[in-house]
Amino acid sequence: MPVDLKSLIRTIPDYPKPGIMFRDITTLIENPYGFREAIERSASFHRGMGITHVAGIEARGFIFGAAVAISLGVGFVPIRKRGKLPGETIGQNYALEYGVDTIEMHADAVDKGDHVLLVDDLIATGGTAIAAVQLLRRTGAEISHSSFVIDLPELGGADKLRALDVDVHTLVSFEGH
Ligand code: AMP
Repeated sequence: MPVDLKSLIRTIPDYPKPGIMFRDITTLIENPYGFREAIERSASFHRGMGITHVAGIEARGFIFGAAVAISLGVGFVPIRKRGKLPGETIGQNYALEYGVDTIEMHADAVDKGDHVLLVDDLIATGGTAIAAVQLLRRTGAEISHSSFVIDLPELGGADKLRALDVDVHTLVSFEGH
């Protein structure tokens, strides 16, 4: 029986603030069949493409990204919030609703000739993922594929990533935001 991934994702209204429908993946990853199905569907889609690394965005992108990396037999690159990585880093600013945030990666994590798959749990406006693509591309690595468990298509992030020549693979989509 195929696993219904969408039914395993819990929606928590008004979290973290009024009006947001928070798509909670903890109920998906607590389910062994659901977690494995999500990882295997992403990994099997991206197998045989010459992916050399998976980059995951802190924090929920680590859960899915690390598992996809193991399944593909490649290394994992953490993309973290500012100030968390101990070595030499490169950073990329991106706009939040109020203000600016920065993501960072180790400068030597990937290089020209590497082919990186970007993974996060959810794509909404695309701000975070686009910053990650810009950051990764500054290393000279190729970043032409991304994978998300959840798409919120009305927020347009997946289309913005495609406009940057990044293929967007998603497993479940929800209307609204
Ligand atoms: P964005 O940069 O707008 O594409 O937002 C994507 C990031 O914010 C992801 O790392 C998600 O984990 C988180 N996020 C945004 N909207 C939601 C939502 N409705 N439910 C859960 N997480 C969200």
